[in-house]
Amino acid sequence: MRWSRYFINTLREVPADAEVISQRLMMRAGMIRKVAAGIYTYLPLGLRSIKKLELIVREEMNRAGSAELLMPAIQPAELWMESGRWQKYGKELLRIKDRHDRDFVFGPTHEEVITDTVRDTINSYRRLPINLYQIQTKFRDEVRPRFGLMRGREFIMKDAYSFHSSRESLDETYETMRAAYSAVFHRCSLDHVPVEADTGAIGGSASHEFMVLAQSGEDAVVSCPNCRYGANVEKATSKFFDDEVEPPASQAVAEVHTPGTQTIDDVGRFLGMPTSKLVKTLVFQADEGPVMVLVRGDREGNEVKIKNHLGTNRLDLLAGEGLFWATEFERQTGGPIGYCGPVGTKCARVLADHSLQGRSRWIVGGNKKDMHLDYAAPGRDFPEPEYGDFTTAIKGDPCVRCGTPLEIYRGIEVGHIFKLGTKYSDSMHCDFLDESGERKPMIMGCYGLGIGRTVAAAVEQSHDDDGIIWPMPIAPFEVVVTSIGKDESVLRTATEVYENLLAAGIDAFFDDRDERPGVKFKDADLIGFPLRIAVGAKSLAQGQIEWSWRKDRAKLLGPPADVVASVIEGVRAGRL
Ligand code: ATP
Ligand code: MG
Repeated sequence: MRWSRYFINTLREVPADAEVISQRLMMRAGMIRKVAAGIYTYLPLGLRSIKKLELIVREEMNRAGSAELLMPAIQPAELWMESGRWQKYGKELLRIKDRHDRDFVFGPTHEEVITDTVRDTINSYRRLPINLYQIQTKFRDEVRPRFGLMRGREFIMKDAYSFHSSRESLDETYETMRAAYSAVFHRCSLDHVPVEADTGAIGGSASHEFMVLAQSGEDAVVSCPNCRYGANVEKATSKFFDDEVEPPASQAVAEVHTPGTQTIDDVGRFLGMPTSKLVKTLVFQADEGPVMVLVRGDREGNEVKIKNHLGTNRLDLLAGEGLFWATEFERQTGGPIGYCGPVGTKCARVLADHSLQGRSRWIVGGNKKDMHLDYAAPGRDFPEPEYGDFTTAIKGDPCVRCGTPLEIYRGIEVGHIFKLGTKYSDSMHCDFLDESGERKPMIMGCYGLGIGRTVAAAVEQSHDDDGIIWPMPIAPFEVVVTSIGKDESVLRTATEVYENLLAAGIDAFFDDRDERPGVKFKDADLIGFPLRIAVGAKSLAQGQIEWSWRKDRAKLLGPPADVVASVIEGVRAGRL
C-alpha cells in the first residue's frame, strides 16, 4: 500500500477528550475515529491491527477445538426473559423495538442465543462436549464509556461457549481454553497474568481473568512475587488476621462519650488509639433489608465479597445527605449516622470480617449520638456475627498460600474465562440424555476476549514519547519504506525495495508522499511500524540505504539487496 493512495490522517494535536495513552496515540495515528461516546470507526490502519489479532485468536481457538459460528447482534427479548436476564441485566442492556412493537436487545453477550441453539441441536451425551466461538460486535450501554477502545459501548469481542456432560469434561476444556488464551496474549507480546476472578452469585465454580499490567488499568490485581498467586482485588484473599492478642475481656461494656466524632479517624484521634484497634461499621441496603458489616477500623469493606456472602442482587451503601436521610438511616438501623453499631441494632443481619474473630476488646458505635461502646463482646452484648472474608487485601498483606508480602498492580482485563455450570441450561432447559437415559442439564463454560481492548492494551504497554511501538504480529504494517526527496533514483530504488518486500510476503507500506523527511519520520514513529527503511540520495550515491527498528532506532546501512534480506529475516522472526 502506498501512503499517497491510502486513507490516513495523522494528527499533531492531542485530542482533547482522550484520557489514556492508547486512545491518544490511536486517534493521533489515524487508526480510530470517535463517532459518539464509546462508539468508534476503525479506520483502515486500525482495522488492520484488529484483523491481525482476530486471525491470531481464530488460529488459537481452532487449535483448541472450538468451532467458529456467527450469531446475530440483535436478539429477541423472549430468550432474555427465559434466562431471567431481561429483568436483571439493568441499563447496560440496549433494548429496542421493531416495527411490530416487539422487544429485542442488541446483544451485550450471547449465552442466551448459544444455549437456545445447542438445546435445539443436541440431546445426547454422545455429542458432547461441544465448543463454539464467534468474533462479533457487542453493545453495552456502559455508564462511563471511556479510554477509547478499552471501554467502548460498541466493541468487538471473541466469545466462546462450551457444553459438557460432566464437570471433568468442563475442567478439561477450561484448561485447554486457558492455555489458548495465554498463547494469544503471548503471541501479541503482551506482558499478562491470569488471575483468579470473582465468580459472582453463581458461586462455586472457577473463573480467571487475563490481566495486562499497565498503569491505566481499571482493575487492581493482587500478586505474590514468590508463588505467583494472582487474583483480582475484588476476590483476593490474604492471610491477614488480627495480630493483637489481648487478655479476654472481663470488663463490662462501657459507654464512652465521643462528641463530634463522625468518622473512624475522628474516633481514633479522640480516643488516642490507632484505627486498627477500633471496629468500623458499614451498613448496606441488601435484598433482605439493611445489613451491618463490621471490619477492622483501618480496612476497607469489599462489596463483591459481601454481596457473594449474602447472595443478594442488590447491595448499596446506606448513605445519603440531609435531614431526611439522617432520620431514615436511624429508623432503619436503630443508630444515627456515624454512631451505628451492633449492640441493639435493627439491621437484619450482622457480618464481621474474620480479622475480628477472637478479638476481646471491641470498640463500636453505641447507636446513640456522640456515643461509642468500649469492651462490647460478641455473644454477650450482641449476637455472634456471621464471620467471613469481607475486606479488600492491600499491599504487604501476607499471601494466602505462602505468606510472602503481596504486591498490588494495575491491570487491564483483556480476557475472562468462566465455569458457568448450569445457570443457563437450568433456566433455559438445555438438557441431554446421559448413558442411562436420564435427562440432565448441560454443564457450560464461557470464554470472552476483548479484541479492541487487547489491541489498545498492546499500545498501553508498548509506546514512547513519539508514538506507538507495535509488536510485529499486530502491527498494521510490518515495514514502512520511506523515500527521502524527489530524486528519480531514490524513487526507483524505494519502489523496488517495496515491491521486493511485497513479493516476499511482507506486509510493507510505502511512504511515497512528497513531504519533508522530518514529517515522514515523525509520522512513521507515531504510527509505530516495527521496521523502517529509508532511501535517500546521499547514501544511495554510495550504493546504500538505511534501516532501523522502531524499538531502539539504531540505524544500520547496507546495499538495498542486503537490507531487504535482513528486514525480511527480522519480520519473520518477529511474527511469532
Ligand atoms: P469489565 O469488568 O471490564 O466491564 P466484563 O467483566 O464486563 O469487563 P466480560 O463480560 O467478561 O467483561 O467480557 C469479556 C471481555 O470483553 C472482557 O474481558 C473485555 O476484554 C471485553 N470487554 C468487556 N466490556 C468491554 C467494553 N465496554 N469495551 C471493550 N471491551 C470490553
Ligand atoms: Mg462490564
